[in-house]
Amino acid sequence: MIEATRTDLAVRLADAERRYVVRNPESRRLHEERALVMPGGNTRSVIHLPPFPLTIVRAEGARITDADGHEYVDFLGEYTAGLYGHSHPVIIDAIRAALDDGMTYGAPNRHEVVLARALCERFPSIELVRFCNSGTEANLFAVSLARAVTGREKVLVFEGGYHGGVFYFGHGGSPINAPFPFLVGEYNDAEGAVRLIAKHAHELAAVLVDPLQGSAGVIPGEPAFLQALRDATDEHGVLLVFDEVMTSRLATGGLQQVLGITPDLTTLGKYVGGGLAFGAFGGRADLMSRFDPSRPDALPHAGTFNNAVLTMAAGAAGLTQVYDADAVARLNALGDRLRDRLNAVGAELCATGYGSMVGLHFTRGPIRRASDIPATPELRALLHLHMLESGYSYARRGFVALNLAMNEADVDGFADAVETFLSA
Ligand code: PMP
Repeated sequence: MIEATRTDLAVRLADAERRYVVRNPESRRLHEERALVMPGGNTRSVIHLPPFPLTIVRAEGARITDADGHEYVDFLGEYTAGLYGHSHPVIIDAIRAALDDGMTYGAPNRHEVVLARALCERFPSIELVRFCNSGTEANLFAVSLARAVTGREKVLVFEGGYHGGVFYFGHGGSPINAPFPFLVGEYNDAEGAVRLIAKHAHELAAVLVDPLQGSAGVIPGEPAFLQALRDATDEHGVLLVFDEVMTSRLATGGLQQVLGITPDLTTLGKYVGGGLAFGAFGGRADLMSRFDPSRPDALPHAGTFNNAVLTMAAGAAGLTQVYDADAVARLNALGDRLRDRLNAVGAELCATGYGSMVGLHFTRGPIRRASDIPATPELRALLHLHMLESGYSYARRGFVALNLAMNEADVDGFADAVETFLSA
């Protein structure tokens, strides 16, 4: 397959796309209907797919069903936000119970303290926490807080990093990034990063880094790299912000717990809200307490839905009743099993990641940063279409996030289907 000529590939891809279009008339119709009122029929770029994405109409357990009635095992897991699976009884019950008491109070509610306490107990860096509505917002607040308390302007990020819709640093960045003065370093290049931090220390407010780059290809940060960031930021009085929006799921206290590296601030999102819209940022008490409204120098932090009742209730139930150390270990073991199976295939495919987050790439590796991943859009599209036909969904870019409703048979089925593709 890998040796197939480009023409072969193009013919196979055109064939597979034709089958996709024929199989999915209702998804196509719904896409066209959306396109009349939404640009490209879309309100979230990453879920667009040419010629049209599948519209999902139902989800239960580990499975989703599209508008044309096809069922898929959901290996996308809503880019990690779907950790609990689609109908976890504890989450559903928590939402139902909260609903009975109404949901928009304009006041503190009894659920938020449960979630906040769980986060402070679990994450080594989080002494105090604040909620918001998305991971993007969490990073906006964390960076803005760092700039306010340090009185410095710049923010060091890393090539391939994705910290939200206005924090995209892959492929040369985005013209609609937030207008902070960013410096962009090389991921997993400890020496380069230390040099940048030392050189810009007088104007550098924060280093914002994901301890494993998710959207760039599920690339783990090397412990020596992340430790070098901690040491250099400590030395120069720069704040270290870990974006654990995706990676918080990889241990009860996030990757920071695994690494034994404690950042000054941590940002969260995704599954922590139980599957509802969520973001949070937290960290050192002396930094976070600047948001204490009773202080004369308090920084403002607004957000109508920051403590949305259903989100707080679902998130609290998930962390206190479901996602304990055993559940983390079971889910990570499933991810390890999938990675091992795929890496044993021996072809030019490598599976990256850590625990329940897996990246698929058409190269033998190793992959230390986004630029180590060759551009193979036709192969990626062909594999994706093959997997959909086989009943498995995931992100075409090669992104897989497992959920708690899955079992070993699901993972083995996914690996079998990849093997079938590679041997075709
Ligand atoms: N940071 C990381 C590491 C992410 O992966 C994402 C979302 N994929 C975000 C931040 C932004 O989160 P949200 O989509 O909730 O704004």
